[in-house]
Amino acid sequence: MRSKVYFIPVAGNDTLKFINEKLKKLLDKSGVIDFVAKKDRCIVKTHFGEAGNTGFIIPEHLRVVCDAIRLKGGEAFLSDANTLYRGRRLNSKDHLKLAYEHGFRKEITGTEVIIPDDTKKENVIAVKIEGGSIKEAKLCRIYIDSDAFIAVSHFKGHILTGFGGVLKNIGMGCASREGKLAQHCDLAPVVHLQQCIGCGKCVEICPVKAVHLKNKKSVIDKTKCIGCANCLAVCPTMAMFIDFGAGYKVQEKMVEYSLAVLQGNKDKIGFINFAVKINKECDCWGGENPPIAPDVGILASLDPVSLDKASFDLVNKACATDIFKKSHPDQDGLKQLKYAEELGLGSLDYELIELR
Ligand code: SF4
Ligand code: SF4
Repeated sequence: MRSKVYFIPVAGNDTLKFINEKLKKLLDKSGVIDFVAKKDRCIVKTHFGEAGNTGFIIPEHLRVVCDAIRLKGGEAFLSDANTLYRGRRLNSKDHLKLAYEHGFRKEITGTEVIIPDDTKKENVIAVKIEGGSIKEAKLCRIYIDSDAFIAVSHFKGHILTGFGGVLKNIGMGCASREGKLAQHCDLAPVVHLQQCIGCGKCVEICPVKAVHLKNKKSVIDKTKCIGCANCLAVCPTMAMFIDFGAGYKVQEKMVEYSLAVLQGNKDKIGFINFAVKINKECDCWGGENPPIAPDVGILASLDPVSLDKASFDLVNKACATDIFKKSHPDQDGLKQLKYAEELGLGSLDYELIELR
């Protein structure tokens, strides 16, 4: 069956006020938060951006979503989970501080930010998954125990998954650090020594200090590597290789984790994608991150698979090419959506309803 995806176009020169008016209309007409009931504690799962990143969805837009939840009598909380790598989002204290620096303050959003501390056992839950390769997903409990859940995701490129949208935001983004490691664990790169010029860029960028130089050649400690692929992105001679067959495994596991989030939230879950500021890499990327496509708009749906597929199609239509494949030739991001449809998360077949 075709799922409905609501879409409101946004142009790069639209004002904040104008975009927020469009967003209100989208929330109203799409019904993606209609399930929020009085006194519901509603998680708004988003990404606050790594230090130096500007691709994340700005707090002023998230305020519109949180205000709409409050209008229904619910209580909104903005949230994201901690990362695997040693950036500014590794632990709850630093992550919260960075979110604050990026403008996610109560006076701007009207809402508290919650960063679950997954070093405490009580904040993590193991959710059984039927039908996939993973038997149990390790998620931050707050993403399962809240009364309602809205994922507000930035649609952009991604070095390991081709593109990242709602499935990335919930599958990887709701996982505890243990869960994130389980999704990345097949992915240590290998170094082709004859191509390595010993520039040390991989050593500098590695977030877990898994790389060092020996005799002016890069060496990776596989016991420390978390498979983030940052070293691939900076290597000037393409001396680093990842088995992208293993890259597909990340997509598979991410989809299985998304299924756990969906099952945990039953019918009280909705999805919004911002297909604007479409960068080559994800919002975890703190370095140079050029846009690869013009702004397209904001989309909303109750079907996460249709939502990501519609976002993918609209961005590629605006670029007149598969810009994600062009940016990350080794990855086929559509595999995540095909697998998600197979597992019953949603449909690749959608009806696009454009609002003006
Ligand atoms: S970035 Fe590439 S060329 Fe430079 S040291 Fe690392 S593997 Fe070698
Ligand atoms: S993939 Fe590269 S940058 Fe990432 S943890 Fe492993 S060695 Fe470090």
